[in-house]
Parts: sequence; structure tokens; C-alpha cells
Amino acid sequence: MSTVMIKCPNTGLAVSTAIETEPSVFRQLPKVASRMLCPACGKEHVWMTSSAWLAGAPRLVETRRPAKTVAA
Ligand SMILES: [Zn+2]
Repeated sequence: MSTVMIKCPNTGLAVSTAIETEPSVFRQLPKVASRMLCPACGKEHVWMTSSAWLAGAPRLVETRRPAKTVAA
């Protein structure tokens, strides 16, 4: 199980929605809006499943770095 994460629009922090799901289930979720009380800023956010990601998933790491070492 992985935790569904969203980005807090006020602080820019990744915050947990306290929802846990399997990656295979998460990928098949319809685009629905959900509400949560944000632990980062204390306000309520409406978030979409399409803008959420799973903790530990590649999307969390957005900095690009060379994936392969190419032998010259
Ligand atoms: Zn927030």
C-alpha cells in the first residue's frame, strides 16, 4: 500500500491525504475531486486524483538526472 500525496497550493509542500491504495488501483481511479484538511497549512483543499501521486512513486522526484551512464 502507498499513501496518496498531493501538493499543497499554499506551501508547495507534498502532503499526505491519509488515503492508502495499491498502485494498480490508483492508476485506475476515475478523475474525481476530493476534499481534505491540509496538515501543512491547516486549510481545506479540493484535489483531483489526476493531480495526486503515490508516495514513493517516480513523480515525487521531479529533478531530472541522468538515468544511464553512457560509456564513451
Ligand atoms: Zn495546504
